[in-house]
Amino acid sequence: MNRTLLITGASSGIGAACAIRGAASGTHLLLHYGANREGVEEVADTARIAGAEVTLIQADVGKSDDITRLGRESAEASDPSLPLHLINNAGVVDQTATIADMTPDRLHRMFGINTIGAILVAREAVALMRRGQGGGGIVNVSSTAARKGMGGQYIDYAASKGAIDTFTIGLADELAPEGIRVNGVRPGLIETDIHAKGGEPDRLSKIGGTPPLGRPGTAQEVADAILWLLSDGASYVTRTIVDVAGGR
Ligand code: NAP
Repeated sequence: MNRTLLITGASSGIGAACAIRGAASGTHLLLHYGANREGVEEVADTARIAGAEVTLIQADVGKSDDITRLGRESAEASDPSLPLHLINNAGVVDQTATIADMTPDRLHRMFGINTIGAILVAREAVALMRRGQGGGGIVNVSSTAARKGMGGQYIDYAASKGAIDTFTIGLADELAPEGIRVNGVRPGLIETDIHAKGGEPDRLSKIGGTPPLGRPGTAQEVADAILWLLSDGASYVTRTIVDVAGGR
């Protein structure tokens, strides 16, 4: 083995594409999932065929105790002398809404998963990187929503991702002296199930053609940017947020 790759939300969409693209002999994949066990098992089967070692870890990233357990199970499963790379990807959107619909329950769920959950997952990953001096790197998955604000659609989601962009910059500064690079990606309109889960299954057929490149992106295109940021090819890249959005 030459590295450990921890991916949150690996049971579908962008996280699953990262697992499949990142699977290779020499990589130990720690594939996290929430509720979709069937989805993550399918991803794991494909990754094992590509030569990766795979460990599955379930956790609700909206619950801090679950994230602590995710850290513990990751520590037990992985070799402390290897570099650990984190793809901090799990996230949700909610129904289209305006400010009048921003109830405390909705906001607590949105920020609990997308922001607090992601920060706590990074905290666990940094502890893992420090235990054996193996070092590592982090890519946080944000959204172009963070730049656009998404008024009248989902300002809560946009704000939860804006916080992730700021967190990426601050954490990069904090960890640079240890040689740990921290970057982000901002996907645009990407073909995954997240739109249907947020109550808008037709979102991409309606607006998927609006980015300057004239089409939605694929999960694989986002995964390729993420994996590049974690590769030696990006050894001088930190504190950077890459838009993968067809110019949107
Ligand atoms: P997706 O297919 O719905 O995948 C979301 C993943 O997050 C799933 O694996 C899901 O796990 C996991 N997840 C969600 N809530 C969770 C929770 N409470 N606990 C544990 N896991 C949880 O969506 P995607 O499009 O690939 O999204 C991945 C990331 O990209 C998200 O952060 C999203 O905000 C971001 N993004 C997506 C787009 C887009 O257009 N698709 C655009 C910008 C940003 P389970 O299903 O197993 O529970």
